[in-house]
Amino acid sequence: MHKLLSQILKINSLHCPKVYGKVIVPYKIRDFSTSGTMFKSAVFNLQEASKDQVQEFLDSFDTVLTDCDGVLWIDNNAIAGAADAMNYFRKLGKKIFYVTNNSTKIRSEFALKATQLGFIASPEEILSTAYLVAHYLKGIGFTKKVYLLGSNGIGEELKAVGIRHYGVGPDHVKPDFKSMQPSELDPEVGAVVVGFDEHVSYPKFMKAASYLASEECLFIATNTDERFPKAGSIVVPGTGTLVRAVETCSERKALVLGKPHSYVRKYLESCGLNPARTLMIGDRCNTDIELGVRCGFQTLLVMSGVTNIKELEKLRTDKTPPLPDVVLPKLGDLLTLIQP
Ligand SMILES: [Mg+2]
Repeated sequence: MHKLLSQILKINSLHCPKVYGKVIVPYKIRDFSTSGTMFKSAVFNLQEASKDQVQEFLDSFDTVLTDCDGVLWIDNNAIAGAADAMNYFRKLGKKIFYVTNNSTKIRSEFALKATQLGFIASPEEILSTAYLVAHYLKGIGFTKKVYLLGSNGIGEELKAVGIRHYGVGPDHVKPDFKSMQPSELDPEVGAVVVGFDEHVSYPKFMKAASYLASEECLFIATNTDERFPKAGSIVVPGTGTLVRAVETCSERKALVLGKPHSYVRKYLESCGLNPARTLMIGDRCNTDIELGVRCGFQTLLVMSGVTNIKELEKLRTDKTPPLPDVVLPKLGDLLTLIQP
């Protein structure tokens, strides 16, 4: 009976919150159904929680959305314990989505990489920005060609939905590079897409900005992450670097599709998630945690990627949003908290 009542209240809270608000329920049941807010923006170190609190936290979500770079892996190396934690969520029956701003791979390649690193993953569970670009352009009925300042990941996803593109790979700088002629531009191009491009060059910026000189040409970016997570002191500039460069020389603003912007949000909302019972895990506040806060998800910040301890302390002191609900040194530490 207790379980049934709890279930009814959960259904009411899902579909009809006002009705739930008027129901007087015993404290224990009410506590369970609102447990998703127990750490709201508290930047709470989950390692300091009691075993009961950790269990309550685990019970408080049905869907897990996780960032990849800096949470699950760095480059081609899995972060210790991350696969065990993700696979444990799956064992508990949680629905899983890998939500990455990385645009360098198609969904099946991400799933393969995840599997090789010990994660259980299928292409349908991957939401990457390369996929979002194709999904967006297909959705608006785009039929022209894309000038792609990006990688094969986006190119392949575009191809899969029948959208033509060019631009992937090196575009070498010639000694007389400033003498580019309008005849070198493809009149069929109707959109410039900027993602991560390791072959970025001055001629590519010239072409992108020249296409964007036409107001009808769409300007789309995968994401604006400043840098990639990297062990050690080497900084690897992220896609945001390229987006800002093209925005500067085109004097236009890109429509950004990845975290934390509205397109990825609408896509996730269309998946029918219950925001209060969804957990977003990330290593970056201005993308992952921001997305979680904007969507009303619970949020977990891990310190295994771009956010360092000094920045975490600053978050706690300044209390500048977006603030994560809970934090852990790394995702794998979750499992040590529930061991008897
Ligand atoms: Mg990350």
